[in-house]
Amino acid sequence: MKAIFLDIDGTLYRSSDYEQHLLTSSVMVIAECLGIDRAEAFKKLYETKKIHKTVSKSVEVLGIDRRKFYSLLAENVQPCRYLSPDPSLKRFFAEVRDRRLFVGLHTNSGKKLALKVLGCLGVDDGCYDALVTSDDAEPKPSLEGFRLLLSMAGVSPEEALYVGDRCEVELEPAKRLGMRTAEIHTSGCPYADIHLNSLQELLSII
Ligand SMILES: [Mg+2]
Repeated sequence: MKAIFLDIDGTLYRSSDYEQHLLTSSVMVIAECLGIDRAEAFKKLYETKKIHKTVSKSVEVLGIDRRKFYSLLAENVQPCRYLSPDPSLKRFFAEVRDRRLFVGLHTNSGKKLALKVLGCLGVDDGCYDALVTSDDAEPKPSLEGFRLLLSMAGVSPEEALYVGDRCEVELEPAKRLGMRTAEIHTSGCPYADIHLNSLQELLSII
């Protein structure tokens, strides 16, 4: 194995309080963009996401420019209220990079929000080699970002492991491309080769 690609939210950290804050903020931004009240915006997001699986796709279906949405969201969201530097995460990245593996981060967020979240976790750009956001490629489950990561790492899919917490949205496309896959903090995904309870567990496998 030559590269590890990791999802950010729900994979590098777990926080139901931040998730709730993110949802509330997303609804606020959608309400503002569409000129509707928050209850209606919540209903629209809920119903659209049931069909389209991701917030990124849902906002587009609702007629909102994805980049505008994430830019407004990044201004409104305050992740450091809920997330704090995680020394074990830093150690994980240091160990993985000691093993000369290419580390790519992959999120459907825009770059500004992704960097804000990583900053709160104490993950600086010395921890990883590449960051692919929905500013750089079509969001997951589109294969575009997965392919971009592979080309940035200069590896074939068989040489890469994808780690994520969403079965249909990220592990399925990664598997379809031929990557090895690890599900984290969830279980039962048919596209996952391995199951992890923590990133530390991964260090004993690779
Ligand atoms: Mg996730």
